[in-house]
Amino acid sequence: MADSNFTTDNSGIPVHSDSDSLTVGPDGPILLHDAYLIEKMAAFNRERVPERQPHAKGAGAFGVFEVTHDVSAYTHAKVFQPGTKTEMLARFSTVAGERGSPDTWRDPRGFALKFYTEDGNFDLVGNNTPVFFMRDPLKFQDFIRSQKRRADNNMRDNDMQWDFWSLSPESAHQVTWLMGDRGIPRSWRHMNGYSSHTYMWVNAAGQRFWVKYHFKTDQGVEFLTQADADALVATDGDYHTRDLWESIAGGNHPSWTLHMQIMPFDDAKTYRFNPFDLTKVWPHGDYPLIEVGRMILNANPADYHTQIEQAAFAPSNAVPGTGPSPDKMLLGRWFSYPDAHRHRIGPNYHEIPVNTPHATEVRSYSKDGPMRHHNPGDPVYVPNSKGGPAARVDGPREAAGWHSDGEMVRQAYTLRADDDDWGQAGTLVREVLDDAARDRLVGNIVGHLSNGVTEPVLAQVYEYLGNIDADLGARVRAGMTAPR
Ligand code: NDP
Repeated sequence: MADSNFTTDNSGIPVHSDSDSLTVGPDGPILLHDAYLIEKMAAFNRERVPERQPHAKGAGAFGVFEVTHDVSAYTHAKVFQPGTKTEMLARFSTVAGERGSPDTWRDPRGFALKFYTEDGNFDLVGNNTPVFFMRDPLKFQDFIRSQKRRADNNMRDNDMQWDFWSLSPESAHQVTWLMGDRGIPRSWRHMNGYSSHTYMWVNAAGQRFWVKYHFKTDQGVEFLTQADADALVATDGDYHTRDLWESIAGGNHPSWTLHMQIMPFDDAKTYRFNPFDLTKVWPHGDYPLIEVGRMILNANPADYHTQIEQAAFAPSNAVPGTGPSPDKMLLGRWFSYPDAHRHRIGPNYHEIPVNTPHATEVRSYSKDGPMRHHNPGDPVYVPNSKGGPAARVDGPREAAGWHSDGEMVRQAYTLRADDDDWGQAGTLVREVLDDAARDRLVGNIVGHLSNGVTEPVLAQVYEYLGNIDADLGARVRAGMTAPR
């Protein structure tokens, strides 16, 4: 061993042994003033940060996003200007399982992206599904609890999952999607990523647009059957994590092509259904996909904990030229993501290198707090006459605005002609899936229901599925009552 490569404690002091604690004679008791032993035990007890509430199991990689097409007519965001290349991070995950849970459980997959842009970090916290189970953030906590574990025996329970879903008709589209082939991707490389939410873009002239992001896999969409996925649960719980790691390590760099759906600002007022409803897609026939660029993942993390586990994504990280929409779920997430990071990692989570901007510098007045390691210095207030930073009031228009007026109410979105909970789910079953995919959908639902779903939930489920598609409801009911 080189002379300089000796172990130290966390203060850099050389240690005397890697294997023997300080004791009273070789057989005697351990001494409390063995500071190195105490430091090792105490640090070990504190190695885990709280796991994410949803999306606890995941992995990620670094890469680059390159703009290949000109969308400057729709946004002035630097990250989307022609030819721009931006460093980025992606994290993929399951939703319901804990940090050690199997990768191949049936579940939506998280598709979280962080772009280190010249205007600060831009995050998109999407899924591999274009829709979601609900449209109001007041229901999110109940939904996640129904997917997690019971209070009494700490086990997951399909009965409570279907109870929540079948009493929440707005979940029909996402549940149909989840129970179909795309509910278990072959790998993270073989799935698309969607913003799901509608966001705003604003161009240099101040014109506003409503947009949806579609990251289409260049590897092709592939899935695992329920049987294949179940077998992998038993043999390789980290199957998707391993696939991503080995593929990148082997020089096989996965990529996705970004397409946008873009809706002129005023269309939203008269569109046939609410374009901000997260349980619905915008049909491609109405708003075709517009190609923007390509992201490629080319580097594995060097340290999972500091670069992936502590990575903090937030939809509120919206750079100039991008912004939110009146989607209630998105507005809820605008608050809840940074709040989760403040709790999970600490109020200075943004100082961890993976979360700090790479292409610009932070000039905020935020200071102090636990684990702070860099303060901006004086002046500590604004406005000031001391040369401190001041807001860029004459910069490009902020993409955060739309007209809103009315009484304060607790009410669902105002219904429009084509606003219903079943229509798009029915279209998926009848017009997108082929016969074989429909058979697998029925089989997957019957298998899921057979695993612990009881009355009165079963009766609710048959009605719910029948509302999506009469034939689907009838086939599932028949499958449940057929002798097995
Ligand atoms: P289109 O025929 O234009 O689009 C159908 C889309 O369905 C495909 O482009 C593909 O999306 C997706 N798809 C294909 N196979 C499956 C599958 N097994 N499970 C889930 N999705 C699949 O029709 P519309 O745009 O009018 O949409 C019809 C239905 O398609 C919707 O009700 C929705 O359920 C589903 N869908 C629509 C999407 C959209 O953004 N319009 C996106 C995804 C699904 P992709 O190209 O993204 O892989």
